[in-house]
Amino acid sequence: METLAGVTRMRLVGGNLALDFINTRSGPPVGSPDDDVLTGYPELVDWAVYAGALTEPEAKALHRLSRDDPDGAHAALARALRSRDDLDEVFRAVAAGQSPSTSVLDRLRDDEADALGHARLDRGTTFGWTWRDDRTHHRPLRPVVHAAVQLLTTGALDRIKGCGGCRFLFNDESKNRSRRWCSMDDCGTSEKIRRYVVARRTRATS
Ligand SMILES: [Zn+2]
Repeated sequence: METLAGVTRMRLVGGNLALDFINTRSGPPVGSPDDDVLTGYPELVDWAVYAGALTEPEAKALHRLSRDDPDGAHAALARALRSRDDLDEVFRAVAAGQSPSTSVLDRLRDDEADALGHARLDRGTTFGWTWRDDRTHHRPLRPVVHAAVQLLTTGALDRIKGCGGCRFLFNDESKNRSRRWCSMDDCGTSEKIRRYVVARRTRATS
């Protein structure tokens, strides 16, 4: 797939589909994002494949649908980006130990109601929601919204954290809840280097 390389530049480090969806924008911990992989509807579809929320055949069908109905695809992208803003607001508040606004939670409830309205209950080891029959443009967003509500209603909220070095959010699944970085290879390493440089400078001047 030609655009897949573009969407994979954001690592999947959130430990949850909704947090990874928020992490499609990168940048400093506070302030505006400086990069965004969701630059069009095809990218949204490709990201959903990359994140495991869509199968390749489903993606193919959606790419075809978006070529046949570009206006519908455009509207679905706009809605997905609005939803990403909402999820960003909700989970950033939770990570900071604050309460999200009632209005944003109401929108999330409406999105979840819509997502479940297009889902079916399928039997695996237990029953679970799937969107196998959903052939609409909004298909990539459904499992993301549902993952967000699942995390808010059944997850440990104190495990939802923001990276110390960038704007990525993650679900801290470490035993002693000590995770501070989106990934040790990125922000963890830069922090180690920064501390090393400071320590050396301190030694040199003392
Ligand atoms: Zn980071």
